[in-house]
Amino acid sequence: MRRDNRRETIFIPLSVMDHSIPVAERKKLALELPQLSANWLVVVATTIVVGFSAICVSVLLSMRRGDIDLAAQTSSNLAAAIHADIVRNVELYDLSLRNAIDGLRSPEIEKLTKPLRQLVLFDRTSTARHFGPIKVYDQAGDVTLDSTTLTPRPENISGQENFEVHSKQSSDALFISKPLRTESGEYVIFVSHRISGNDGSFAGMVAGSIRLSYFSSMFRRLKMDSQDVLTLFRRDGTILTRNPPDASAMGRNLPNTSRFRDPEIMEGSFRAVAAIDGVDRQYVWKGGTVPLVVVAGKSMDDILSRWRGKAFLIGAAMLGLAVLSMGFTLLLAAEMKRRTIAEGKLAALANTDALTGLSNRRSFDKIMLAEWSRARRERTPLSLLMIDADHFKGFNDTFGHQAGDIVLASIAACIADNARRPLDCGARYGGEEFAVLLPNVRSEDAMQIAESIRFGVSGLPSEFRSITVSIGVATLIPVDGIDHRDLIYAADVALYQAKSRGRNQTVAQQSRQDVLAA
Ligand code: GH3
Ligand code: MG
Ligand code: MG
Repeated sequence: MRRDNRRETIFIPLSVMDHSIPVAERKKLALELPQLSANWLVVVATTIVVGFSAICVSVLLSMRRGDIDLAAQTSSNLAAAIHADIVRNVELYDLSLRNAIDGLRSPEIEKLTKPLRQLVLFDRTSTARHFGPIKVYDQAGDVTLDSTTLTPRPENISGQENFEVHSKQSSDALFISKPLRTESGEYVIFVSHRISGNDGSFAGMVAGSIRLSYFSSMFRRLKMDSQDVLTLFRRDGTILTRNPPDASAMGRNLPNTSRFRDPEIMEGSFRAVAAIDGVDRQYVWKGGTVPLVVVAGKSMDDILSRWRGKAFLIGAAMLGLAVLSMGFTLLLAAEMKRRTIAEGKLAALANTDALTGLSNRRSFDKIMLAEWSRARRERTPLSLLMIDADHFKGFNDTFGHQAGDIVLASIAACIADNARRPLDCGARYGGEEFAVLLPNVRSEDAMQIAESIRFGVSGLPSEFRSITVSIGVATLIPVDGIDHRDLIYAADVALYQAKSRGRNQTVAQQSRQDVLAA
């Protein structure tokens, strides 16, 4: 049998082809891979922006923490210094009170003359600027001795807080009273000790007074911000004095002060909205052996004002950069997608025959190589139909090339209708010849498809004369010793037979040996 010289196939070297990926998947991948990159670009950019934002927020928070800690340290130093100063003076005054009590217990001193006893019992502490006279009271609350005079003015203090406490409690510890207003209009606090008889019974008390002006003048010397407060509390949470001064606060017992009562705890800090002026502050407090607590408070607004300025600038810059980079990334991703779609369209155009819309010869050759490899790997049959329009030259000569083009497009549509599975590939092989590759289709099924194409073409409605096709069908299971060219050759031989037997018919390949021998 003669081999048709016109059916020479252009072979593309195997090395440049990707045989491992099936056609349909290859088409899908060609469109999806770059699109995936655009999505990845957005994901990576978003991750970077979120990561930088998180770092920025964590740096800002740690700066905030640093400012709060620094303010707490400053307040703590202030409270400790003031507390130490107050305690030193109160302890000195307390020594005088204890000295008086010790003297009163001594029978020798009782025998002394009044002026001499006065000298022994009271040192000069009570004459210090802010300290009042030290007085001794009997168990009825009547004054018996006064450090400033040999003849004390009659006075009864049985209704006073410290007298009541000492008369009821056996403790001889220093007691500090609530602020009281004296006859001269000054505010003072009384510091006192219980005098106990030999049997432990209440025998009166020794008391001195400290003017609150002592504390306020000390507080005034300090340079403070307008929202800062310094407060002197009794351990039970009663306000003794406060800077800025507030007469209404004096003697009040505030919430948040229960923490001062535990004598084991000497210092601490807390944040609260002040009950007195409603300002949100950080407070640091310092206590000690004397039942007094100094609290230094600084408003959160003052602590954070510089930080807020910086945070606003850094935050705004970060936000701007984030918006800019995300906007740029989205634009870039949109451009990438646009190009991907354009490339996909170009690739489709490069593989499509313009007149018929079927795969072109270039694409068919690639697909043939890939499918041959796959069929070989999977040991499945591969069928090929070679289709040629009958007497087409004559048709063209009679009706013109334009009419011929219309008919070629109709034949292509008929082929596409019958090769519908995703892996089927109908192609324009050249001129008025078509090829249909049918992966995993047995010979009988390929014959059926060929026949339905042939019937379809012969039944095409036409304003010219009807046209017919001849079809050669070949099916091979790829094995060692043959390649895809043998399949094309076998289909070609069958087509030649169909032509020589009178056209408008389908001929299947003969046995493989016959074909290869031909
Ligand atoms: P046979 O039955 O033996 O195949 O006869 P035939 O006339 O079809 O074969 P031949 O190879 O002699 O002629 C093929 C013709 O197909 C020649 C050419 O004018 C026509 N042809 C090839 N490509 C096109 C095309 O794109 N458009 C049109 N209109 N005609 C084409
Ligand atoms: Mg031809
Ligand atoms: Mg022809």
